[in-house]
Amino acid sequence: MQPAERTLTILGATGSIGLSTLDVVGRHPGRYRVFALSAHRQVDALVGLCLRHRPRYAVLGDAGAAAAARAPLAGAGCATQVLWGEAALAEVAAHPQVDTVMAAIVGAAGLTPAIAAARAGKRVLLANKEALVMAGEVFLRACREGGATVLPIDSEHNAIFQCLPPGQRTGTAAPGVRRIVLTASGGPFRRASAAEMMQATPEQACAHPNWSMGRKISVDSATMMNKGLELIEASYLFGLPESRLDVLVHPQSIVHSLVEYEDGSMLAQLGNPDMRTPIAHALAHPRRIDSGVAPLSLVAVGSLHFEAPDLQRFPCLQLAHEALRAGGAAPCVLNAANEIAVAAFLAGELRFPDIARVAEAALAASGSRAAGAALDEVLEIDREARSLARGQLARCAA
Ligand code: NAD
Ligand code: MG
Repeated sequence: MQPAERTLTILGATGSIGLSTLDVVGRHPGRYRVFALSAHRQVDALVGLCLRHRPRYAVLGDAGAAAAARAPLAGAGCATQVLWGEAALAEVAAHPQVDTVMAAIVGAAGLTPAIAAARAGKRVLLANKEALVMAGEVFLRACREGGATVLPIDSEHNAIFQCLPPGQRTGTAAPGVRRIVLTASGGPFRRASAAEMMQATPEQACAHPNWSMGRKISVDSATMMNKGLELIEASYLFGLPESRLDVLVHPQSIVHSLVEYEDGSMLAQLGNPDMRTPIAHALAHPRRIDSGVAPLSLVAVGSLHFEAPDLQRFPCLQLAHEALRAGGAAPCVLNAANEIAVAAFLAGELRFPDIARVAEAALAASGSRAAGAALDEVLEIDREARSLARGQLARCAA
C-alpha cells in the first residue's frame, strides 16, 4: 500500500543538507510534496529548484533577492510565489498544509523558523544543531507545547536515535542507558601539529576527509567545535548530563555513534558517510525508504579504528565540555562567538587557532549568566555575545 503523501517545507534548500533532502525526495515520486523551499541569497540556485520541484512558496533573504527570482519563474510559467524575510520563513515552517519541516538553515538564523515549526506541531527534521545549542530549553518547550516530533538529522544524533528504544520522548533520558558516545572523524587536522594549524587556510580547513558539507560546519569539524556543539545538542535531545556523554575519534566515519546500556551492551549504527541516510531515515520514520546511498561493505572497510580526542590540540572541544557543564547562557554564548570567529576565519581575517581564543574570551566574559527563558531573551544573549566576540577579533588581529 502506498503511504500517504507528506507535505514538506525545506528551510535552507540550496545548502548541502537541503540538496541531499531533495535528492532523497526525488527518488520517491508521489510520496513527498514540496510545499516551500528557502535560501538566503542564492537566487539562481533557488529558481532552479523551484522549476524542478514546483513548490507553492519560495523564500529568500531580502526583497531584492525575491524580486530577482520572480521574473525567471514567471517567464518559465512557474506559479511559485516568492516571499522574503524572517516572518515568511516562520510562515512556511508553520503553515497548516505542511506536516514536515526540514530545518537546514546554517547557524543562528535557523532558530526562529525552527521554533515556529515546533510551536505549530510539525515533524521537525532538525539539521540546524545551533537551534538546540542556543535555546535547548526554549526549543524543547516549544516542541512539547506544540506537540511537535523532533527527528535528528545530524548523523551522530540520528544514529543514537536509532539505537534508543522506539518511542523514546525527546529531552528525556532512556531507561537503562549508561552513556552515549559520539564519534568524530577528527577532521582534516587530526594529525596536524600546532604549527601547521597556525598556518591553516580556509581551503585546507574546508577539505573534510569524509563528508561534503557547507563551509561553516566544515570549519567547525576542523576545530572540532562541531563535536562540541553536538555534545550540547545530544545533552538536550537525549536528556543526559555532560558526565554521561563522551567523544571518540573514529577517522573512517563508518560508526556514526553508540549507546552504552547498563548491562554492558553497546549499540551502534553504521553506514557509509552520506547524509542521505539520516535524511531518508527521518523523512520516512518509522518506515524505511531507499536513500540512494551505496550499501556499506564491511569487507572493504576491513577494520575499524578508534582513538581518544586530543583536547590540547582541539581546545574548542574542551570549551564545549565546559560550556555544557556550566549550563545557563554558556552554550548560547559559545555558539555566537564561534559563528563570528568562523566567519572571520573564512574571510581571511583571523588565524585558525584564534577561533578558540575568541570563543574562550566570550565564554569567560559571560560569567554565569542564566539561560534565556524565552526566544527574545535568547536572541538578546546571542546579540551581546556576538558583539563581545567582534571586540575580541580586533584584539586577536592586533
Ligand atoms: P550550507 O551552508 O551548505 O547551507 C545553508 C543553507 O542555509 C543555504 O540554503 C543558505 O541559503 C541558507 N542560509 C544561510 N544563511 C542564512 C540566513 N541568514 N537566513 C536564511 N537562510 C540562510 O549548510 P549545510 O552544511 O547544509 O548545514 C545546514 C545545517 O545542517 C547546519 O546547521 C549544520 O550544522 C547542519 N548539519 C549539516 C551537515 C552536513 O553534512 N552538511 C551534517 C550535520 C548537520
Ligand atoms: Mg554531525
